[in-house]
Amino acid sequence: MEIVTKEIMIASKNKNKIKEIKDIVSGDVVLKSFMDYPDIPDVLEDGKTIEENSMKKAVEVARFTGLYSIADDTGLFVQVLGGEPGVYSARWAGEGCTYADNNRKLLNALKNVEFKDRKAVFKCAITIASPDGDTHTEVGEIEGYIAENLRGENGFGYDPVFYVPALDKTLAEMDFETKNKISHRRKALELIKPYLERVIYYGRI
Ligand code: IMP
Repeated sequence: MEIVTKEIMIASKNKNKIKEIKDIVSGDVVLKSFMDYPDIPDVLEDGKTIEENSMKKAVEVARFTGLYSIADDTGLFVQVLGGEPGVYSARWAGEGCTYADNNRKLLNALKNVEFKDRKAVFKCAITIASPDGDTHTEVGEIEGYIAENLRGENGFGYDPVFYVPALDKTLAEMDFETKNKISHRRKALELIKPYLERVIYYGRI
């Protein structure tokens, strides 16, 4: 089938995310990223939900580049903390904080909480936007528990504290392929894939 949209922009600098998206996209499409647009203005992630942030990022980047664009936003929602850190996951321990700072804050906040009450869900919102502002958003989720200690060396962010019962491992104890088969982002990507294919083959969302 003939390709109508030959270039798609991924609004990310994260090589892992770009690789995950490449995995699900037809070989003939050229994927661009922030590396190809060093002058692109930063998008302020000030939405109240991850869905809003992914939409804002995709729309602004699509408008700037003139390309159909994909953007994501992720949050970790811990039940006993009323859904925190949620949309604030990246900077939960304060402006300029590290992954380690966030994980320390989380383990401290749950210090006296029993394992059964440490339920959490990782959610990833992905939006595809056209240069003139059409959008579609999907959300992928993975359920788990916050571990009692840091476990594992792989991955990034909250991976060492996110325990998945079915595999008896934290995300940081899994290899790249295993995590990327079950992750919140993979699920969101699978859901967005039909919309992406419509863009590629029919030129609309
Ligand atoms: P962002 O939306 O990708 O910027 O992610 C928001 C926050 O969630 C950051 O602190 C990331 O480190 C964290 N995060 C995003 N994706 C993952 C993941 O797959 N595993 C662990 N942490 C993640």
